[in-house]
Amino acid sequence: MAYLVAVDSGHGMETAGKRTPKLTQDLVINGQTVRRAGDEIHEKEWNKAVAEALMSALNRCGIDTVNVSPDTYDVALSTRVATANNAGADIYISEHYNAAKGVWWDGGYFVAFYSQYASEATKRLAAAVCAEQAKVVPWPSNGYVTDVSYGQGKLYVLRHTTMPAVLFETGFMDVWESATRMLDPAFVQEVAEAQCRGICNYFGVGYVAPDGSATAPAPEPEPKPEPELPPTIRKGSSGAWVKKLQELLLSLGYVLPRYGADGDYGDETYYSVRLFQEVNGLVVDGICGPKTWAALQNGGKGPTWPTLHKGDRGEFVRYMQYRLNYHRVAVDIDGIFGAKTQAGVILFQKAHCSMVDGIPGAETWGLLKGC
Ligand SMILES: [Zn+2]
Repeated sequence: MAYLVAVDSGHGMETAGKRTPKLTQDLVINGQTVRRAGDEIHEKEWNKAVAEALMSALNRCGIDTVNVSPDTYDVALSTRVATANNAGADIYISEHYNAAKGVWWDGGYFVAFYSQYASEATKRLAAAVCAEQAKVVPWPSNGYVTDVSYGQGKLYVLRHTTMPAVLFETGFMDVWESATRMLDPAFVQEVAEAQCRGICNYFGVGYVAPDGSATAPAPEPEPKPEPELPPTIRKGSSGAWVKKLQELLLSLGYVLPRYGADGDYGDETYYSVRLFQEVNGLVVDGICGPKTWAALQNGGKGPTWPTLHKGDRGEFVRYMQYRLNYHRVAVDIDGIFGAKTQAGVILFQKAHCSMVDGIPGAETWGLLKGC
């Protein structure tokens, strides 16, 4: 039985937005004026052309296709998905052309999206097609990424299809160099053939070129390695991950006055991690494990240095006690602001501060945090 590919050509011709800014000059392709200055190109024009070219290329290779968004109106996302699911398609390909600013800008790239929850098969499909498509797009390729990678939110067709699904943003509609390729039949054909070669490689099917010449199926591409997860690190750890932790702490306003980001997880780092954990509502243990890493990398809060009073408890007190010891005022580091700690604060203030009151506020903190 032949493989079946569902092809989605995104949007409708009149879907709001989904078009280039007004062209700043006539667009001439192969000596013919195909669009006038002041006109626009609709994303659907590209999507439909490349989808149709892809379907005929796949058919040539003996692969069946189902067009889930035929014609030029905007087929509901749920209908596109239902058509593919009901047909029992093996894979789902969605064609798009990106936009970033809605006014002309320079830059742009090719990128493919798959669901954040995609299977290994989906990643293999994305890898196989991106490898071929990157060869024919004349701008950089950002490869394949999850559908939440650019903060753009979840992509419906990727999450509701029951088969591996990948969405391709071949170029940018609001980048002139890339927009002007949307109506170029040679470029449409090149991209469709590249995608077809990738899909053939994914299925292990021989690719048949437009001239009838056949190519044996390519060996499976190597799957992209998953990004390395940060390890759990603690006092005594050292190396690049410790340095990364220290840099994150410093960027959030924690202080490492003695050694900075030196890659060694000593007391400075340990007490700062404890402080970070308290400030961010985490379990306070001074160990940087998965939850602490996640908080550090996803907008963790920095410290607001409080005025401390006798009787206070917690990590700010503990941190102050550590800093007192650092400045050669010996107090217990127990997180409890008792009489001995207050005597230590007074000793420190007498040596360094203009105000001696046993209540560490802005001036005392400023000096305690220094070297
Ligand atoms: Zn689109």
